[in-house]
Amino acid sequence: MSSDSINAETIVLHAGHRADATTGAVAVPIYQTSSYQFDSTEHAANLFALKEFGNIYTRIMNPTNDVLEKRLAALEGGVGALAVASGQAASAMAIQNIAEAGDNIVSSTDLYGGTWNLFANTLSTMGIEVRFADPADPENFRKATDDKTRAYYAETLPNPKLEVFPIAEVAAIGREIGVPLIMDHTAAHGLCRPFEHGAAIIASSCTKYIGGHGNSIGGIVIDSGTFDWEAHKDRFPLLNQPDPSYHGAVWTEAVKPLGPIAFIIKLRVTLLRDMGQAMSPFNAFLFLTGLETLMLRQERHCENAAKVAEFLDGHDKVTRVIYPGVMTGEARRRADAYLKGGYGGLVGFELPGGMAAGKKFIDALAMFYHVANIGDARSLAIHPASTTHSQLSAEELAASGAPEGYVRLSVGLEHIDDILADLSQALDAV
Ligand code: PLP
Repeated sequence: MSSDSINAETIVLHAGHRADATTGAVAVPIYQTSSYQFDSTEHAANLFALKEFGNIYTRIMNPTNDVLEKRLAALEGGVGALAVASGQAASAMAIQNIAEAGDNIVSSTDLYGGTWNLFANTLSTMGIEVRFADPADPENFRKATDDKTRAYYAETLPNPKLEVFPIAEVAAIGREIGVPLIMDHTAAHGLCRPFEHGAAIIASSCTKYIGGHGNSIGGIVIDSGTFDWEAHKDRFPLLNQPDPSYHGAVWTEAVKPLGPIAFIIKLRVTLLRDMGQAMSPFNAFLFLTGLETLMLRQERHCENAAKVAEFLDGHDKVTRVIYPGVMTGEARRRADAYLKGGYGGLVGFELPGGMAAGKKFIDALAMFYHVANIGDARSLAIHPASTTHSQLSAEELAASGAPEGYVRLSVGLEHIDDILADLSQALDAV
């Protein structure tokens, strides 16, 4: 009964699993097995031919991962999901599932640096061109589209800029032309549901807020089931033309009796099977454990981040605070339209002393961890100009939204007094 709930707080605890069928275990068991015994040769043949669904081999499916997939699909209102080895794998695979050499995608310019590299330097070697569009004007996506465009791509709450993406506006343009919007929702799970605004696919890192404890790397691709791949046969040949690796199956037709799951099934039984970026069942268990408290954690992350932003906004050593809740104009409208229950756990700020001040501040932190991560229960900080963005010139840094004096905080769940005390003493040291 509870797994049918439409409430996120209940879904993260109950969707996809009640108790283990054999032992009654309430916690999802870790099925640490590579393979599964077939009942008969006929059973095995049916599984391989996809005439029957069941477990074959953990590279392609696993019962622990299955619960995580069902739970995250339910949380986001999708029809199916696929757990993979990292957020990077999720982004790359979501695109490769529908784009091949000669095709292009249009991506927002506001991107995580790792995704930027994947798009600018790696997908290009596979013949997939990535065109970048400034999300300030959603129409930039339409302008960059041609008949080889296979997807739009963006982050809900991109850092370092922290300007919320216009999901509904770009999704509407895409649906008019026949281009699905893929959202990297890493920083905003629990605060927004992109499918309700027209996004077609989610490709996120589980490493951050989903897991929430900084202990595992993983990713998830979620299918909304609302994009009509068949209506755009020429744009999506990989889903609408015979697949030689499954005796000529046409994915949109072959899985129709099972629901609108062509995208997510194909991703599992072709790309995951062939390239092998599987999530370990142990990591799936850790993500399930973390996910149980996602909604509670997001509430506190948001509450603490709002207090941090307020503190920094009033501090005389800080020239600018980057946080959706202090933005004005269109950026604020978007933040208010899409984020519910808070503005997220990320806060950026700028020190007038540039590179030297940024480094000095980080070195003076006592409680905050200096790490290249976000979404941990602990508070984290990084100075992009001397780390993640160190290859960029001063001009490029400014254009990326992370000028030399920019510091990014991922505000954790510690007592707010301790968070503010650490920031205060580190600012004193600058
Ligand atoms: N997307 C965003 C917004 C991220 O911040 C990250 C990692 O920092 C990724 C994707 C990549 O995720 P992973 O590190 O799990 O590969």
